[in-house]
Amino acid sequence: MPNIVGIDLGTTHSLIATIGHGVPRVIEDAAGRPIVPSVIHFGGDGTVHVGRDARDRMLDDSGHTISSIKRFMGRGLEDVREDLELLPFEASEESENIIRIDVFGREYTPPQLSALILKELKRMAEAALGDDVRNAVITVPAYFNDAQRQATKDAGRIAGLDVLRIVNEPTAASLAYGLQEQKHGTIAVYDFGGGTFDISLLKLSEGVFEVLSTSGDTHLGGDDIDQALMRMVMDETGRDLEPHELQRVRAASRRAKETLSDSETAALEIPEIGFARTLERDAFEAMIAPIVERTLLPCRQALKDAGIEPAGVDEVVMVGGSTRIPLVRRKVEALFGRTPHTELDPDQVVALGAAVQADILAGSRRDTLLLDVTPLSLGIETMGGVVSKIIPRNSTIPASASESFTTYVDGQTNVKIHVLQGERELVRDCRSLAEFDLRRIPPMPAGLPRIEVKFLIDADGILNVSARELRTEKFASIEVKPTYGLTDEQVETMILESFEHAEEDIELRLVIEARNEARQILEASAKSIDGEEYAELSAEEKQRIASGIAKLRSTMEGDDHQAIRDAIEENEQATHRLAELKMNAAVRKALKNKRVREIQ
Ligand code: ADP
Ligand code: MG
Repeated sequence: MPNIVGIDLGTTHSLIATIGHGVPRVIEDAAGRPIVPSVIHFGGDGTVHVGRDARDRMLDDSGHTISSIKRFMGRGLEDVREDLELLPFEASEESENIIRIDVFGREYTPPQLSALILKELKRMAEAALGDDVRNAVITVPAYFNDAQRQATKDAGRIAGLDVLRIVNEPTAASLAYGLQEQKHGTIAVYDFGGGTFDISLLKLSEGVFEVLSTSGDTHLGGDDIDQALMRMVMDETGRDLEPHELQRVRAASRRAKETLSDSETAALEIPEIGFARTLERDAFEAMIAPIVERTLLPCRQALKDAGIEPAGVDEVVMVGGSTRIPLVRRKVEALFGRTPHTELDPDQVVALGAAVQADILAGSRRDTLLLDVTPLSLGIETMGGVVSKIIPRNSTIPASASESFTTYVDGQTNVKIHVLQGERELVRDCRSLAEFDLRRIPPMPAGLPRIEVKFLIDADGILNVSARELRTEKFASIEVKPTYGLTDEQVETMILESFEHAEEDIELRLVIEARNEARQILEASAKSIDGEEYAELSAEEKQRIASGIAKLRSTMEGDDHQAIRDAIEENEQATHRLAELKMNAAVRKALKNKRVREIQ
């Protein structure tokens, strides 16, 4: 399989990586920069910028600049009200099940917006590799539920990617360090980024990663450290600052913070407000210690949930830009009692691991078996609001299981299948994933029907549920589209819309597709003209084929896709009888062989 890429679709930054000569590497843009800010800017004239260009416009045109879209993937309005209040863009009130963000009177869903980022990454990779990129592995946080994973997959489809696998970020980080080769052990992945903190504990057994527990803080990151420095500047300045001055303070604070990861002192200079001082690492560490300390609480919680002591952790992996801070490294080392892995670039480690996973899927690493497990149990509702589990948590995926149920009422002709996710016993404590009906069962006494419910989870953790009444063979099935998700039709429409609004010319795309098809037809024609069936054709038929080919050859040079399509059609008609003759010959041959085999 050619060119499978790994993508880290992050809250603030995204990256795309591939394998070259067996080694994962992050792909850079034309200017040699690997990181694409996860920011989208819409211009009033219909232009769309993604990445650095969009981020640069954030200050002047924040209302039309979308950031942190990952926080909204697969969520409903109630889930994200708090986040929305912190961001400058507006969601429509009809966002109950899917957030719709309004820009210049047009509504965009999170998968559509994420697709714009994915397209930019795809474009970058195609430019760097000089080839089409279609197949991708995309990472998501370990705590993402089915709806959030599905939304990520939808984003990939809208961007024109085949998402071969959705992989947990901590699993990817572990793969980047090659930890799967150790076969067994417990791994802690500490991910301290710009706006979020995540800790995941993974168990590796026989090369299979299992998520033991996750914890974190969705509003804790390097931004909080920047703000602590900004507060110090404002206290020392002693006056209120204008918004544009604040931006300068923010940028200078962040620079000073980053310098202090490598040097003992940093200059914090903001000429615009007449501020200048030197910052010592010791003073900085004293200031940020409470923030770093806040990351340790979720770590302890995750250890407790997984039922392991810090000493039971065999490997610690550091992810995210903020893990460059020496104090962070020391605190993590002290908690787990071992030196964390920091050899790889903490910004790149997830993308690199995604590329390793892609390589495994491409079959380049035959010795590695890599499977994930379901993080939560799946089941259906039975009498009295009780959940009957069908696939228990931590099952290795892909997984399938079935169980038989029956009716409780005489003559019941409809059975409602209510699919649930969670560990608790009662329906009201679990998450409802979907509901569907098995209808028109012939009336039978209660307890007589045998309804087999089958659950199938594919390698991405996406669930398909079917129900069959075994006595009458009534059947119903559903791909579980989580409550907060898009329907297939909606995704299709978005795919079409994304073409309409793409910068790349749709006409050109059609021409290229038509040309590719024409090329294949010409190759096939060249072959059949060599064959013996061609000799059976009349002179007139041969003439028609020849002129069809000539016409197709000349039309495909031009850029009228409709004309190319017409010529293809004409060609097909001209070769119709030849194709028929060949088909007959092939069938005769197949039958002949068969008879021989049967006699033996
Ligand atoms: P996210 O996963 O949230 O998208 P990243 O992992 O890219 O975020 O981390 C971004 C954060 O890392 C920012 O707050 C940035 O200032 C911080 N960062 C980057 N480099 C350094 C450094 N050398 N020292 C300290 N912090 C850094
Ligand atoms: Mg990250």
